[in-house]
Amino acid sequence: MSDLAGSLPEAASGNKLAAKLGFLGIGIMGFPMAQNLIKAGYNVTVWNRTKSKCDPLISLGAIYKSTPGEVAASSDVTFAMLSDPESAVEVACGKNGAASGLSSGKGYVDVSTVDGETSKLISQRIKATGALFLEAPVSGSKKPAEDGQLIFLAAGDKSLYDSVAPFLDIMGKSKFYLGDVGNGAAMKLVVNMVMGSMMASFSEGLLLSEKVGLDPSVLVKVISQGAISAPMYSMKGPSMIQSVYPTAFPLKHQQKDMRLALGLAESVCQSTPIAAAANELYKVAKSQGLSDQDFSAVIESLKGKLQQ
Ligand code: NAP
Repeated sequence: MSDLAGSLPEAASGNKLAAKLGFLGIGIMGFPMAQNLIKAGYNVTVWNRTKSKCDPLISLGAIYKSTPGEVAASSDVTFAMLSDPESAVEVACGKNGAASGLSSGKGYVDVSTVDGETSKLISQRIKATGALFLEAPVSGSKKPAEDGQLIFLAAGDKSLYDSVAPFLDIMGKSKFYLGDVGNGAAMKLVVNMVMGSMMASFSEGLLLSEKVGLDPSVLVKVISQGAISAPMYSMKGPSMIQSVYPTAFPLKHQQKDMRLALGLAESVCQSTPIAAAANELYKVAKSQGLSDQDFSAVIESLKGKLQQ
């Protein structure tokens, strides 16, 4: 096993085979992120709870191991992209979890969206093995992940941040180092809280425009040319008008992020009434069976009796 301090600078300077990378969680985001590392020539070992999702990566040259611990044991740096706090803790700290394969000279980079307390708990467990820890949740969705255009919001061991910078640069277009563990998680939750409220408000606008006899697709065009333009509206608006929601960011994850952001706000007594109201809409959409649809399906929660 090569030493982290020795192998990563080599990798950064172009000796790609020197760095052994691990990737845990091959979902909507994990798949393209791992794929981009493989395509860049790195040696990547993967694991996913549902093994079949790893198969296309194995075809591209990835090695498969049957537990997170085995991946971490055979990698210099292991990335993890899991659903939520529970799965992030389970994969890092549970039986046969990543921590069981970590030791001094290795690094663990959790890119899942979780709350700061969860991230600190994982950090403590990882650092107890002698390994280094970085939280680095991402801003950007399925397409930016495919295009290597994510934005990393990193915090934790600065030396690990510096070592993994070449890998973050392959998967993303920019990266921020935000200091202590918890700050990356907090930044990500604030960003997604704003996004969740924007999508809920946009949904109201689409439905109201239609109800008063306007063409909602014209509304999308009008918005796209003004100061409140956002790529998200142009990207998602047309399909929302058709009531189809191809999943890029699952609604259940957006609601998880609203819930965690509201918890963060409560912890510092910050009032967030808009986000609280938006969260209720995501909860309604979940109860309508829309958890695995794209988060833009939140518009369905507003198509209640008043719409008839
Ligand atoms: P996803 O497609 O639902 O993938 C979730 C991953 O977590 C899958 O690999 C899943 O394994 C695994 N997982 C879930 N529960 C588990 C458990 N108990 N034990 C082990 N593995 C478990 O979600 P995603 O969209 O890739 O999102 C992943 C993370 O990135 C989330 O924290 C999300 O909030 C964040 N994020 C997503 C986006 C986006 O646009 N999609 C953007 C930024 C950040 P299985 O395949 O076996 O289910």
